[in-house]
Amino acid sequence: MALIVQKYGGTSVGSVERIKSVAERVARFYREGHQLVVVVSAMSGETNRLVALTQAFSESPNPREVDQVISTGEQVTIGLLAIALEVIGVPAVSFTGWQVPIRTDRVYTKARIESIARERLEAVLQGGKVAIVAGFQGIDADGNVTTLGRGGSDTTAVALAAALGADECQIYTDVDGVYTTDPRVVPEARRLERITFEEMLEMASMGSKVLQIRSVEFAGKYRVRLRVLSSFDEEGKGTLITVEEEAMEQPVISGIAFNRDEAKVTLVGVPDRPGIAYRILGPVAEGNVDVDMIVQNVGHDGTTDFSFTVSKGDLKKTLTILEGVKEELGARAVLGDKGVCKVSVVGVGMRSHPGVAAKMFRTLADEGINIQMISTSEIKISVVIEEKYLELAVRALHRAFGLDAPEV
Ligand code: ADP
Ligand code: ASP
Ligand code: MG
Repeated sequence: MALIVQKYGGTSVGSVERIKSVAERVARFYREGHQLVVVVSAMSGETNRLVALTQAFSESPNPREVDQVISTGEQVTIGLLAIALEVIGVPAVSFTGWQVPIRTDRVYTKARIESIARERLEAVLQGGKVAIVAGFQGIDADGNVTTLGRGGSDTTAVALAAALGADECQIYTDVDGVYTTDPRVVPEARRLERITFEEMLEMASMGSKVLQIRSVEFAGKYRVRLRVLSSFDEEGKGTLITVEEEAMEQPVISGIAFNRDEAKVTLVGVPDRPGIAYRILGPVAEGNVDVDMIVQNVGHDGTTDFSFTVSKGDLKKTLTILEGVKEELGARAVLGDKGVCKVSVVGVGMRSHPGVAAKMFRTLADEGINIQMISTSEIKISVVIEEKYLELAVRALHRAFGLDAPEV
């Protein structure tokens, strides 16, 4: 008998039929004698619909009330799954985030989990029932409902697995594991048997939204045994996220990630002197804008161009902030470009194999794709390129690094 946390994403609970099929899977595990905590997302499309509703009145609605609204999708699916389970003879009790309670900080729309009370869930499990928990939501110290950021149900599941000391956390979704790249963009992408936490974290951070970044951080920190599986097929083993020593073979590159949500900002002709980066990025940080890649060009004639990327949604705000300080900085112009994206190659094998960067740049050059910015870590190389070349770049790199599935 094991204690298993299972999480079912939006598509997996997207209709009455899908919820029935989830109930049947949960029932199978239950009848095998396992203890189960099941986390569910809202039905697919529902959270988007709720977000759009909150924007119908104002471009920047009160975040407390946004969370009040967008957390409701999950309340529907927990109740429906509990009903579906009882109908087939499996006793189940559903919980919203605040009923558990799952305590978070106060940062509406991207709250972080601080603690989870185990008592109510453990009582349900000890009573021989399945506990169903709403993903994506929690409650702050003042009793306000918070949400964990888009895709946050993954983090709810991993945090519960850590808090309860579960034997495994299974993330059921609409793909049968983690692939070498998003299979929607590259049909030749292959499922990985295993991937290390570190690689998964880079993949998620670089844009592979199959798992929320925070969930991977959590799993790595608390050593939660984490598996990504399909809720649509029966037998698949999915992908196991492991620590590096456990990973069997180590290809140089494990995957290609990409993020369309990048915009480039350039300050042209800023005086090349100490403190300039701080004077540019300080006001941007104060505006609560996250900066991703940064490039400062080599100075010439006493001035330099300074570029960085932000998410597309933050571009307008960033440009307004910089227009406000442009004179003071002595910059000639502030430019914004929404037509860019970021493509990254990720792999722990990179540590011991030189030449990955050269191969990546040659592949892009052969396709006639210009690289605008570069950044690296020990196990990742990222480039910013024109967005219209995204698919071309990802496919070419996937092939060049030998990731395409062999033809059958
Ligand atoms: P859920 O609603 O179950 O949380 P998501 O849409 O959040 O599902 O995540 C699953 C999707 O992630 C897949 O349909 C796939 O298009 C996308 N994805 C992006 N990168 C990858 C990758 N490397 N491997 C697998 N899926 C990926
Ligand atoms: N329903 C939320 C979202 O769509 C949380 C999740 O699905 O993980 O972002
Ligand atoms: Mg998701």
